[in-house]
Amino acid sequence: MAQIIDGKALAAKLKVDMQMDVTTLAQKHGRSPGLAVILVGDDPASHVYVKNKEIACEEVGIASISHKLPASTTQEHLLGLIAELNNDPKVDGILVQLPLPEHIHADKVLNTIHADKDVDGFHPFNVGCLAVRQPALRSCTPYGCIKLIETTGISFHGKEAVVVGASNIVGRPMALELLLAGATVTVCHRFTENLQSHIERADIVVAAAGKQGLIQGEWIKKGAIVIDVGIHRLEDGSLTGDVDFEAASKHAGWITPVPGGVGPMTITMLLSNTISAFKNHVGLV
Ligand code: NAD
Repeated sequence: MAQIIDGKALAAKLKVDMQMDVTTLAQKHGRSPGLAVILVGDDPASHVYVKNKEIACEEVGIASISHKLPASTTQEHLLGLIAELNNDPKVDGILVQLPLPEHIHADKVLNTIHADKDVDGFHPFNVGCLAVRQPALRSCTPYGCIKLIETTGISFHGKEAVVVGASNIVGRPMALELLLAGATVTVCHRFTENLQSHIERADIVVAAAGKQGLIQGEWIKKGAIVIDVGIHRLEDGSLTGDVDFEAASKHAGWITPVPGGVGPMTITMLLSNTISAFKNHVGLV
């Protein structure tokens, strides 16, 4: 049976270290790192995500300022708020919760955030930095996945890594992270034929297609590392991922559960990026 990669435990450990770091930084620099979170509209899941981010910030001592705007907010108003936050010296990080209402152009909004405050790591500048092996602020979910894989102690070198999903926020930066780490990377997406054949030769699988149970357990190579990014809420309220966990556990060497795997690490890397942005702003890096 596969060993569980416990994202909740790793996140808790990293948060203890960050809390100590923030206390020292705040004493030395006269202020705590600041994160501005912008939420537009009434999507219940987004409200839960923002609440969880506020709680996580409080746990480590980051000052979080939430801007909750109605669904009718214009793009112009939103861009104006981002311009203000870009110029606010107490704000080290700016996060716009996705999805945005349809009348707002998400790429335009995300590209307006100053790259040095882009703590989600979505700005083309930061994704480009990763592509040319000069990582700056790194996309939270992929960076969290790398930290989870590192806990296995297995080297990325010489490993076949298969990423399922090619979105801007997970699949693409995930592929760049794995390449940076030294793996041989394949990216599968909605037009890929014979997904099974790719999964069967993977030493590392990162599943981020957003399709419940897409990755069948029998496809997993013996001893592989399986990272499940997918999140799906079932009718009984429980959560599951893109991988058939029960069957995959019989083949994999290591596997992340859903919940308790990637999710807690995504928020933790957001905190880590906010602290990095603060250090940059006060001239420490
Ligand atoms: P998305 O819909 O933007 O992208 C999905 C990608 O999967 C696309 O590139 C698409 O081509 C590919 N895909 C779709 N069907 C496929 C198939 N049958 N075979 C191969 N590829 C296929 O989704 P996203 O925003 O990247 O999120 C993916 C999943 O990860 C969702 O379930 C989302 O909820 C979850 N997610 C989790 C976290 C976390 O912290 N755990 C963070 C972000 C996203």
